[in-house]
Amino acid sequence: MSAEALARALFAGTLGARRLGSYEDGAGFYRSEADRFCRAVEDAGLALVTRKELDALRAAGLLDDYQRHALRTAALAEDLGFRRTILGLGVAGEAGEVADLVKKEVGHGHPEDRDRMRAELGDVLWYVAALADAYGLALSEVAAHNTAKLTRRYGAGFSSEASITRVDEQ
Ligand SMILES: [Mg+2]
Repeated sequence: MSAEALARALFAGTLGARRLGSYEDGAGFYRSEADRFCRAVEDAGLALVTRKELDALRAAGLLDDYQRHALRTAALAEDLGFRRTILGLGVAGEAGEVADLVKKEVGHGHPEDRDRMRAELGDVLWYVAALADAYGLALSEVAAHNTAKLTRRYGAGFSSEASITRVDEQ
């Protein structure tokens, strides 16, 4: 294993342990450890984990912290199939509430309601987080996969041409 691979594995292990709850209530500890790790690497002139990568890992931590918090407020069905069904319906139902809000604003002349939109988008996010968990997915994995896909598709930014000629992928 190369030094870089080892460093990445160590860092991934830290993230994994945190995700498993070993550092429950320890987000601050985790962040300070991450900082210390990167400083040590940089001080050693190895620069195995760039600041950009650290920022990405921090963002992933925030997403996964949100997901764990969301799950604490969930009453999840024991039966996995039933749980996935309810959560999938929840995503659709809350997305419908978002759509209804936009419809009323644009189509019916209701005033813009940012507070309500914030709340409804939050409801969508909650169900997305819980459904991802029901498939064994961390919210950060979902976001990272989507980011990578869109970067491949629109690496130079969105364009109609790129949209028309794109190769569909999951
Ligand atoms: Mg709602």
